Amino acid sequence: MDFTISKDVEELKQKVRSFVEEEIIPLEGQYDYETGRMPEDINQAARKKVKSAGLWTPHLPKSEGGLGLDMTGTGIIFSELGRSPIAPYIFNCDAPDEGNMHLLHLAANPQQKEKFYHPLIQGEIRSGFAMTEPPPGAGADPSLLATNAEKKGDKYILNGHKWYCTGAKGAKFLIVMSKVNGSFRKSTLFLVPTDSPGYEMVREIGVMGSHGPGGHCELKFHDVEVPEENILGRVAEGFRLSQERLGPARLTHCMRWIGLARRSMEIALTFAKSREVFGSKLSEHEGIQWMFAESALEIESGFLLTLKAADTLKRKEDARQIISLAKWQVSETLCKCIDRAIQICGSLGYSRDLKLELFYRDARAARIADGPSEVHKMVISRNLISGKESF
Ligand SMILES: Cc1cc2nc3c(=O)[nH]c(=O)nc-3n(C[C@H](O)[C@H](O)[C@H](O)COP(=O)(O)OP(=O)(O)OC[C@H]3O[C@@H](n4cnc5c(N)ncnc54)[C@H](O)[C@@H]3O)c2cc1C
Repeated sequence: MDFTISKDVEELKQKVRSFVEEEIIPLEGQYDYETGRMPEDINQAARKKVKSAGLWTPHLPKSEGGLGLDMTGTGIIFSELGRSPIAPYIFNCDAPDEGNMHLLHLAANPQQKEKFYHPLIQGEIRSGFAMTEPPPGAGADPSLLATNAEKKGDKYILNGHKWYCTGAKGAKFLIVMSKVNGSFRKSTLFLVPTDSPGYEMVREIGVMGSHGPGGHCELKFHDVEVPEENILGRVAEGFRLSQERLGPARLTHCMRWIGLARRSMEIALTFAKSREVFGSKLSEHEGIQWMFAESALEIESGFLLTLKAADTLKRKEDARQIISLAKWQVSETLCKCIDRAIQICGSLGYSRDLKLELFYRDARAARIADGPSEVHKMVISRNLISGKESF
């Protein structure tokens, strides 16, 4: 593997770092703790600045308004953006829209692109990806999928109950994973406009961390008619396509999380270099130095795993094992680093005078969403035991 960062990507990285530092991080002061999100007018004003700076949708090809980066270049730029948790939405590359763009780019036909993809990449609309269901339906185990679409003429009648659909409040459309005619084998992705009769946005679920503009929502589908032309890809391609979406989407999460872990430790380092305790600076105490050393090892290991996974995807090889390794390692590293940063900053770290407490609450979802750590460990070990992968 070649670890050289090209001159173009390096220049872009510096540009993104300065933009995030000067234009985005200062906006974090406007975060509304009551609603758990940024005020949308501030987001929209910042989005205009991103467009003017030529940094909009960095992950897309140049022909579609992006920066034309490959997967490793995207990794490097996303790890800069991720330094602020509010930046990815402002750059129009946050979950779930970024993963949905990837999926639509791959699988949507020209009419679907016109209707759903183009307004999404322009930031005119938002979307959701509805896979998870309340028990006894699909969660960590997708084989429990209960939502079903019955074919009736040239339409499908969709019934089901989903939750934790990020961004659903105010979204224009959802990509819904459903069985077809009761068959799990025929699971399919449907493009469902949110103004479809029978669609119910039940509630925005109260969560520990931020809500983003569209929250994390519980949804019901009561006999929703979905025309045949709203099938994404083909019938029975749902799981294959959702893997195409989830692999890169897990990786782009890792890339953003690396940025946030780095920033958290930098906040702690600044504090430790100035705070005097027991006759010397905090940074001169071995107990604190070890926390920095452990964090450096974990962040660097996670970054390299993520780049290796990105490189594997770039070479169009099977990246599932390395993505599971990266997702598990980086989500745990993020939580450990923020926790250490809070410990180093003491009561200040626990307060809202710093943003670490917000990062901490937001980060907790990383070990659950897009596959809990336990499921990634299970997948990694199964691959080793079956001989599909080796050490
Ligand atoms: C903030 C947030 C945003 C999300 N956004 C979306 C979204 O946009 N769209 C969407 O479809 N879903 C979304 N999800 C759902 C997410 O993908 C699921 O939470 C995840 O797949 C796990 O499913 P579950 O929560 O139902 O856990 P369950 O299936 O109920 O499992 C509970 C716990 O059991 C343990 N467990 C599970 N399997 C095993 C095993 N084999 N061995 C040992 N332990 C195990 C894990 O610790 C797991 O956390 C989101 C979740 C969160 C928290």
